[in-house]
Amino acid sequence: MQTWDKLKEECGIFGIVSHPEAARIAYLGIYALQHRGQESAGIASSDRKKLHLEKGMGYVADVFDEMRLARLQGDSALGHVRYSTAGESADWNAQPILVDCWRGPIALAHNGNLTNALSLRRELERDGAIFHSTSDSEVILHLISRSRRRSLQEAFVEALRMIQGAYSLVLLTPEYLLAARDPNGFRPLSIGRVDGSYVIASETCAFDLINAEFIRDIEHGEVVRIEENSLESQLPLPKRNPAQCVFEHIYFSRPDSIVFGRTVNTSRREMGKHLAREHPVEADVIVPVPDSGVSASIGYSQESGIPLEFGLIRNHYIGRTFIEPKQSIRNFGVKVKLNPVREILNGKRIVLLDDSIVRGTTSRKIVQIVRAAGAKEIHFRVTAPPIVAPCYYGIDIPTRGELIASTKSVEEICRFIGADTLGYLSLDAVLRSVMDGHRYCSACFTDHYPTDVIPEEKQRSLFGESEKGPGAKRR
Ligand code: SF4
Repeated sequence: MQTWDKLKEECGIFGIVSHPEAARIAYLGIYALQHRGQESAGIASSDRKKLHLEKGMGYVADVFDEMRLARLQGDSALGHVRYSTAGESADWNAQPILVDCWRGPIALAHNGNLTNALSLRRELERDGAIFHSTSDSEVILHLISRSRRRSLQEAFVEALRMIQGAYSLVLLTPEYLLAARDPNGFRPLSIGRVDGSYVIASETCAFDLINAEFIRDIEHGEVVRIEENSLESQLPLPKRNPAQCVFEHIYFSRPDSIVFGRTVNTSRREMGKHLAREHPVEADVIVPVPDSGVSASIGYSQESGIPLEFGLIRNHYIGRTFIEPKQSIRNFGVKVKLNPVREILNGKRIVLLDDSIVRGTTSRKIVQIVRAAGAKEIHFRVTAPPIVAPCYYGIDIPTRGELIASTKSVEEICRFIGADTLGYLSLDAVLRSVMDGHRYCSACFTDHYPTDVIPEEKQRSLFGESEKGPGAKRR
């Protein structure tokens, strides 16, 4: 199957403490977060003595059935959906990761990517640690287990002081739940409440499904402990400049979520309005590339006065794999997901609006499909600047060389994708759209990273390994 050339979301986390239907609510929570990871799903639960775990490869609804949920006993639970950004896509990397160490059972769920995971892992291995997965989240559990601190919470904080990079973490023990966000706050993590019980989720859309009330975000560098119905907070990590991932607003998060204190739909509409001002064009109709282009297209339409029409219809019901025809069908991988509405496109001057161009291959196929449906002109508009650099904080961006904007000018990209004109939104406009832009990371557009980063190849060479050496990252 041809791959859909998009940045891949990272992971989604959901936790709940002291609720009679904990596992079922966690199931619904990760169901609402499915867009953040479709490769595996898992839930750990606590019956206050033991932890139970069920996880597997695939969508939440495929992994869990009544029997599996019934085995998740207890009144607290931690759920996770995963797309692998570090570590291969395999069931031993699925989360939560459950370990039994001298401190007792611990389940961990992680969203983000550690920038020093490989170095820490090699040091731990040289000290005799045995890893069961290739996921960098397991490093955190080893650090917790080896800490000499008296309490698990102190050991957790000590581990946080050693790791670098992006993490929104939730840890479940038989008695309580700990949640933490890295000092830069790269990935979102929010607190809510339902029926008097605390809930934690990567995005607030998970709260809406279970009728939970959104209370607040976990702060950068904050560690929260939830036990029964009480919540304690501490700020044990050094202060850093905020660097929230701006791509959460451009593409990853659901438009109905409040992320980093702002509704994603509002940010996307603003991006569309700015795009209409920065790259106006005479056109008959605006066509969003579904689904993430929709909110921005409404903004573009409001600002420009050009009507919006759904000229591309997305098929939402494609599984992880499907049987391809033996005889090749042109642009099959994209066509199976997007179908053009000829009546809307035929003979029209189209503004085709998408959230990003990665390699350019999918954009090119979409342009071909729209052109084949009779479009007279295609003006491609993007609600982000050109992506020129990789992400080290948990988003699966291809290597620099594969990013079309790292080697080609806007004119060259326009020619490559076959559009009549191409316009990218400026970074300044993106940051104005999300408000309070100084709190955001935009390194994939600027190549300026908010933290020190040692690329994994360099970390490997420090340990005398080649890139294909032991534990080489497999995506
Ligand atoms: S580099 Fe880009 S994708 Fe990665 S955290 Fe920063 S803004 Fe987000």
